[in-house]
Amino acid sequence: AHEGILRRQALRESAARTYARSLPIVPVRARGMTIEGADGRRYLDCLSGAGTLALGHNHPVVLEAVKKVIDSGAPLHVLDLATPVKDAFVTELFATLPRELADDARIQFCGPAGTDAVEAAFTLVRAATGRSGLLAFTGAYHGMTTGALAASGGAPDTTVTRLPFPHDYRCPFGVGGERGADIAARWTEYLLDDPKSGVPAPAAMIVEPVQGEGGVNPAPDGWLRRMREITRDRSVALIADEVQTGVGRTGTFWAVEHSGVVPDVMVLSKAIGGSLPLAVIVYRSGLDLWEPGAHAGTFRGNQLAMAAGAATLAYVRENGLAERAGTLGARMLARLQALSAEHPSIGHVRGRGLMLGIELVDPQAPPACGAPESAVPPPDPALAAAVRQECLRRGLIVELGGRHSAVVRLLPPLTLTDEQATAVVDRLADALRAAEH
Ligand code: PMP
Repeated sequence: AHEGILRRQALRESAARTYARSLPIVPVRARGMTIEGADGRRYLDCLSGAGTLALGHNHPVVLEAVKKVIDSGAPLHVLDLATPVKDAFVTELFATLPRELADDARIQFCGPAGTDAVEAAFTLVRAATGRSGLLAFTGAYHGMTTGALAASGGAPDTTVTRLPFPHDYRCPFGVGGERGADIAARWTEYLLDDPKSGVPAPAAMIVEPVQGEGGVNPAPDGWLRRMREITRDRSVALIADEVQTGVGRTGTFWAVEHSGVVPDVMVLSKAIGGSLPLAVIVYRSGLDLWEPGAHAGTFRGNQLAMAAGAATLAYVRENGLAERAGTLGARMLARLQALSAEHPSIGHVRGRGLMLGIELVDPQAPPACGAPESAVPPPDPALAAAVRQECLRRGLIVELGGRHSAVVRLLPPLTLTDEQATAVVDRLADALRAAEH
């Protein structure tokens, strides 16, 4: 069955599919962090549905919540009408939000995918401000619909102005750290304030508190606070895209809590649906100036996703899984840092909570021509791809990210055990040793 399914998929499915190309697995069963393939092989899943599965696969509280709705005879599809299931989800979600926002927030259900919520956020801020411009960052990822893609740098769009995201490693200004973040902030102020910069007054700035697809780049807290000041002082809405960072992943329930920044709009998806499709925006009531129907969509009322999501949010909150992600993530990060001391091919290890990245480099390659003093070795996508395959052979699923696909990303469920965390780093270390040869 395993080979046949893979062969038919290779024949019929689009060449654009991504995960299927690099992961020749036919999952038939899964529980927690473990996936079992049709060939009987078992894998530790550090991809977690691209960060969706906060509680891992088929967590009992999620399955219970879904079964309860089905057994109750409640309708599964009622567009965006009010239901007890939806009411419970909204109540649970609001209990997790930063107080300042929760006390004065509105919610809009946006559709099944994160990208739907990003589009809704753009429509909202444009209607509220009467402006069309958007500020987005280098390395950002917000989705695959037209507006989200433009904000991700994937399609040219004159309404989007791209600003530098600060990096400690491979800093575009060649300095890194606080100085690099300061230059990035000054560049932003300069573009917004110089009438000759050609940047029209924008409606909003959209930022990921930790860039995921961009290669696991945490926004420095001080820099994020500065972005809050810059946007507030100029009446520009601040949109936090917490699609991947939310629900405890980074060590706090929402990643903006690390800096204390309260955004005007939060874009939420992935884990809020407890493994089923759900996306919403939550925003300050003062922005609620769009017309009824300004953002519609047939699948905004997924009852099973709301039930699974409410159960997930409650479980993460009641069991302190955000704190656990913080401590376990820090322990894994420290072990990865120790590993990098032994391997010059590990250029940088970074992350927050259980959102970790290992950037692989070619230490033998000469620095790029004209590179600044602090130039670091070039990224090594071939090594990263080899590490991923070696991980797979050792029963570990990891994903790659970053501009050059040279960053190995770890997004384990928040429920992983100490032993599983150890096994992940052990297998990764083994895979790296094998791939280096
Ligand atoms: N924003 C961020 C930060 C994401 O990581 C993603 C998905 N990886 C999206 C938006 C888009 O979500 P979706 O794939 O559900 O459209």
